[in-house]
Amino acid sequence: MTDGPDYGFDTLQIHAGARPDPATGARQVPIYQTTAYVFRDADHAAALFNLQEVGYIYSRLTNPTVAALQERVATLEGGVGAVCCSSGHAAQIMALFPLMGPGKNIVASTRLYGGTITQFSQTIKRFGWSANFVDFDDLDAVKAAINDDTRAVFCESIANPGGYITDLDAISAISDDAGIPLIVDNTSATPYLCRPIEHGATLVVHSMTKYLTGNGTVTGGVVVDSGRFDWSANDKFPSLSAPEPAYHGLKFHETFGPLAFTFHGIAIGLRDLGMTLNPQAAHYTLMGIETLSLRMQKHVENAMEVASWLETHDAVEAVTYAGLPSSPYNDRVARICPKGAGGLFTVKLKGGYDACVKFVDSLEIFSHVANLGDTRSLVIHSASTTHRQLTPEQQEAAGAGPSVVRISIGIEDPADLIADLNKALNASR
Ligand SMILES: *Cc1c(COP(=O)(O)O)cnc(C)c1O
Repeated sequence: MTDGPDYGFDTLQIHAGARPDPATGARQVPIYQTTAYVFRDADHAAALFNLQEVGYIYSRLTNPTVAALQERVATLEGGVGAVCCSSGHAAQIMALFPLMGPGKNIVASTRLYGGTITQFSQTIKRFGWSANFVDFDDLDAVKAAINDDTRAVFCESIANPGGYITDLDAISAISDDAGIPLIVDNTSATPYLCRPIEHGATLVVHSMTKYLTGNGTVTGGVVVDSGRFDWSANDKFPSLSAPEPAYHGLKFHETFGPLAFTFHGIAIGLRDLGMTLNPQAAHYTLMGIETLSLRMQKHVENAMEVASWLETHDAVEAVTYAGLPSSPYNDRVARICPKGAGGLFTVKLKGGYDACVKFVDSLEIFSHVANLGDTRSLVIHSASTTHRQLTPEQQEAAGAGPSVVRISIGIEDPADLIADLNKALNASR
């Protein structure tokens, strides 16, 4: 199913990108567990290699199971195309790769997944890229951080670990003025709760490892392109606007128009960086997405109930859930995440670091793991784990200080979750 009437989200999450298998009529998307595809003849092969015809060559670049998933996520996000990758971190590199070059920088929010802060503050330097981190609630600081070498602005819609909501409308107005793309990591919100492209995002990235697959079985990522950015407006994005030597001087933007970024991601990014998603993983993620809206509704309902209860417990100093009226981000919910503030937040314990450690060790239903967005409820003490590589200042700026525990609320019975938390909070004192 590609075109059609304006189907609703619940229909698209099951049908977008999927059609009965042309060879067998199989109703479910088959797992095309193949490395290569037979060419019709030598002319067909040459046309595929020249990008004159779209088709399957080799599964590092394209695979029908992965293609179904790409189309499904692109449709749910309201984008024109998508490129799946082997992980969320791979998706971030794949999003930046066509935009960046030695000496170029990105302006990134201080409130990001811990691994992303490390990727941006350390690892990308090896490519000659750098990141300038600022508080994205301070719009003047975001503006001031952008310079002539800035090639993208990067933030999360619902930001790790506190579940803070970024004002995507205000941030995209700034990136638009500067003529550079806005990349939004929509992992914690999913397109069910937030559609960043409607708020001006150029590219949307996901760790599909989290809510999209939803059950902690897969590592995967995706970059979705809005198709709206004019890569040829100036000479800042030569990978997309200038002749590409590896394809006889083809210009991606001129040739593929709004699909330029997607074609570049496959024909250059996957071809040469090789961060490919395997078809088995794509299958699990396709299965997960079929129930995305149902799971997200339950995640949100449970998170509201658990966060409201936690706020009243006397071992608790603060709860950051944006769905709570006490949150400074509460007034952004209706505009940015109209179906709810997600299932992720932090709780700050009065007992500090020691209480946090006792708390996570005393839980039974909640698992202490480095993951989020699972059907099961999960916790992590960020300061000693995911945000461990960060300086104390970076930890505080990220909302991951030593007395803070990140909670990812699952879809179990909320009364059982509250009973488990109550027992562990009492044990933590
Ligand atoms: C997990 C996560 C990532 C990294 O994704 P992987 O699939 O683990 O590589 C990036 N951003 C956010 C918001 C995440 O939660």
